[in-house]
Amino acid sequence: MTYNPKLLDKAKRHPEKQKNPDQPPGRKPDWIRVKAPQGKAYEETRALMRKATLTTVCEEAGCPNIGECWEQKHATFMIMGEVCTRACAFCNVATGKPEALDKLEPLRVGVAVMQMGLKHVVVTSVDRDDLADSGADHFVKTIQAIRMKAPGTTVEILPGDFRGKMADWDHVIDARPDVFNHNLETVPRLYPTIRPGARYFRSLRLLERVKERDPHQFTKSGLMVGLGESREEIGQVMDDMRVAGIDFITIGQYLQPTPKHTPVMHWWSPEEFEGLARIAKNKGFLMVSATPLTRSSHHAGDDFVKLKAARDTQITKQAAK
Ligand code: SF4
Repeated sequence: MTYNPKLLDKAKRHPEKQKNPDQPPGRKPDWIRVKAPQGKAYEETRALMRKATLTTVCEEAGCPNIGECWEQKHATFMIMGEVCTRACAFCNVATGKPEALDKLEPLRVGVAVMQMGLKHVVVTSVDRDDLADSGADHFVKTIQAIRMKAPGTTVEILPGDFRGKMADWDHVIDARPDVFNHNLETVPRLYPTIRPGARYFRSLRLLERVKERDPHQFTKSGLMVGLGESREEIGQVMDDMRVAGIDFITIGQYLQPTPKHTPVMHWWSPEEFEGLARIAKNKGFLMVSATPLTRSSHHAGDDFVKLKAARDTQITKQAAK
């Protein structure tokens, strides 16, 4: 496997991972094919982000889809800085003490969304456990700025768990994003090693709370596979998600960003992904995306259109009964 040199240079961004032994992962399987980042539209997207001094998770997390997405002018904004207060074992976003919030950032995101002419935008963030409200109000202000500058754009948010504080959850839910996306990431057994700062049932409860407070809001959650989970454990997570009323499940292959990150334990084949997609569909999700390169925000705009259509079909069928 060849690593992106930019990401290797940034390995020191993870002081907590430096003690880990180097674990070279070997060659990626043939089905993990990505388009090299290049092209006019890709460069335009990059220039716009730099000019507006905005951060994207596409770059910070070293997403394999960046060539394809940016060429189509799709990007996922990452707000509240580039430094995260947590230290998930799979994540390439830098860990440390973040800087103060940039109060003008919500407006800059709104202007960039308007300038890019986006139909649908995804906004994520680093975890800000250092802030009293974990950044909930900054999320709300960003949603409001997008609504003001680009009223025709649908908004999908992908926040952290706001340390489990229901008042902060409700504040963000009440800003009425079109899609509330929060990734469970992995199975509960692996949380202590893979997602040590998070709690499985807290994340699940957040998604359940969205439906309690605003049943019209779409909920979405994602899993990364290849971390050592079993098919049975994935099936249990799917059941938990359905009980919490989650509409849309995404499942993608974990890719190890640097030798200091947790290694890939299993490369799930395209056929295995098809099997997972079949199971998820049978469990009743409104929408399922399960392929090796599925990411939470990949094709999010097109998927939102399909999600709405799926709900309309479901309502029509229920009415006809
Ligand atoms: S899949 Fe999401 S994070 Fe990756 S490049 Fe596309 S928009 Fe960015």
